[in-house]
Amino acid sequence: MAIRLIKTIDEMRELIEQAKSKERVIGLVPTMGALHEGHLSLIKMAKEMCHLVVVSVFVNPTQFGPNEDLDKYPRDLHEDCSKADSAGGTVVFAPEASEMYPDGFSTFVNVSGITEKMCGVSRPGHFQGVATVVSKLFNIVKPNYAYFGQKDAQQALVIEKFANDLNFDVKICVGYTVRDEDGLALSSRNQYLSDEERKAALVIPRSLNLAEDAVKNGEREIKKLKEMVVNEITKEKLAEIDYVEIYDCPSLEEIDEIKDIALLAVAVKVGTTRLIDNIVLEAN
Ligand code: AMP
Repeated sequence: MAIRLIKTIDEMRELIEQAKSKERVIGLVPTMGALHEGHLSLIKMAKEMCHLVVVSVFVNPTQFGPNEDLDKYPRDLHEDCSKADSAGGTVVFAPEASEMYPDGFSTFVNVSGITEKMCGVSRPGHFQGVATVVSKLFNIVKPNYAYFGQKDAQQALVIEKFANDLNFDVKICVGYTVRDEDGLALSSRNQYLSDEERKAALVIPRSLNLAEDAVKNGEREIKKLKEMVVNEITKEKLAEIDYVEIYDCPSLEEIDEIKDIALLAVAVKVGTTRLIDNIVLEAN
């Protein structure tokens, strides 16, 4: 395996300094590990554009709530290194939590506005954790480009916002959602689903497709589109809606009708597993 595993910030900084002195273009793909084809598509995109591709693997404790799945989140660093290697990664940066958050750590990045809806409501503190860890990764890796998935659309918007507001010198690139053949968006959390729940989870892409088809057929009214999605998901006994929202994109402002581009985003609990997905609805 050609990929290098780095666990300390000092070692990471040293490598980056060397790469910068040779004017290498640096790409960063932040992940929480349990890598799947969705992550690998981002690594491949980075590989096309950058000399050095850093894949961070860090299950970030500050973005999990007290009753969430931090402890049971799937971890397999060896497998992640091998997958990141095969997709073209140069380095896996996998620090311990104590390396990123030493005793006395007390500084957080807080984005207002767009974090106050959707996942920001169901997961208080989540985006503060995400923005804080991604800022730290930007400062450690100093990437020219950083890659995020459309799958976590609100997260990508939050990152674009703070990177711009805080003048981080990095270009944010967003990759399409990779799905299984049957339409379910790939997620490390899909591992938690039983066979029965995995089948039930297909109600998510099915409901998004219904709305997409309706928009193609001329429906523009947000209330009707939301109802359509809610009704479809409600038919599935194992599914429980956390939210179904449609907002203007990228502002995430409330709208009554789709005039241009809107984001339809859902969070659904299937059994005990909370899954998110979204699609962009285009009026024209
Ligand atoms: P995670 O490990 O879940 O924190 O995800 C790391 C990055 O991979 C984030 O930018 C996600 O948006 C992205 N990602 C996760 N699932 C997918 C997917 N199915 N397709 C594309 N990107 C994804």
